[in-house]
Amino acid sequence: MLSTPSKLRSLHDFSFAELEAQLVSDGLSATHAHTLWRSLHGHADAFQTMPTNFLGPLARWMEKHLYSEHADYFLDVPEIVTETRSSDGLTRKYLLRLRDGNTIETVLMGYEGRFTVCVSTQVGCAMGCVFCATGQMGFTRHLRSGEILGQVLHVQRVLRQDFGKSLRNIVLMGMGEPLHNYDAVMKALTVVADVRGPSLSWQRITISTVGLVPAIRRMADEGCPYSLALSLHGATDEQRRALIPVGRKWPMDELIEACRYYNRKLGKCIFIEWTLIAGTNDSPEIAHQLAKLLEGMDVHINLIPLNPTAGYAGSASAHSAGLEFQRILRAAGFPVTFRQRRGIDVAAGCGQLKAQAS
Ligand code: SF4
Repeated sequence: MLSTPSKLRSLHDFSFAELEAQLVSDGLSATHAHTLWRSLHGHADAFQTMPTNFLGPLARWMEKHLYSEHADYFLDVPEIVTETRSSDGLTRKYLLRLRDGNTIETVLMGYEGRFTVCVSTQVGCAMGCVFCATGQMGFTRHLRSGEILGQVLHVQRVLRQDFGKSLRNIVLMGMGEPLHNYDAVMKALTVVADVRGPSLSWQRITISTVGLVPAIRRMADEGCPYSLALSLHGATDEQRRALIPVGRKWPMDELIEACRYYNRKLGKCIFIEWTLIAGTNDSPEIAHQLAKLLEGMDVHINLIPLNPTAGYAGSASAHSAGLEFQRILRAAGFPVTFRQRRGIDVAAGCGQLKAQAS
């Protein structure tokens, strides 16, 4: 484990404006900032030693500020603790060690030649969803923006090296509640979507939440361009609170009103994530309740069978129950996708790899 004296700062935590201001105040130019920025977000793994394309003043700055005994900065290049591949070879789950020794999970999923990364935003999670391996661990700390970005850079390197492909989608559905770490998440995503950096389309970035009402309203007020996925899992307060403790803080009517506000203000659809748990939330009656709850809203509903975890006794719904649930919602006029569990053979439910390793 590396200790990080408090004065040390990750270069991956900088926005472009911050990096440019720092270099200019150190006597370098805006051109140097562009050169360093492109390298930081393209081939940061090659920074273990001085990259050969840095010359003159920038090379001297790097030598002094990044590589010397009295360095001011470090890089967020996570260390791979374990890599697990699914039997079809298309899902890869990484347990990554951060600089302070904490570990997080990042999952790369390939489907029909397109690749999506599922990124963590916290070490552990404070939300305590009963069926979730991360929720069962509790909360340790928020990730910095550089640590969120570091996961994206890691899978980009894997894709380049092993598949000759680029990353297409990012979903913030790994360990942690992204909207609980709002500022760091938004800062990291600004870099991810930067045309001078990873340059991912903001339309291909999805933030998942269990329903932090003030943050949903903040996304709407700030004109946040990314997609929003709401993990709902219950159609009444009683059903939801049994699975998601945060449902006690923001009742269903407040949550749905915030989502309607988001719909109206941004003109954007919300993805409703619904984990199908046998005998708990997969009955035809609950499907009808859900249809009533979401009436008139711009939503797309994703049904996902439960990924089993050691700390929760529930099991995935029967396929036939999922199909009937989908049929009822479709008949009510909603677009519904009944998704397959991907990567279950590599314990790809959030927090499961870390749970196995600890
Ligand atoms: S499902 Fe998401 S929000 Fe809920 S405990 Fe797990 S990581 Fe946290």
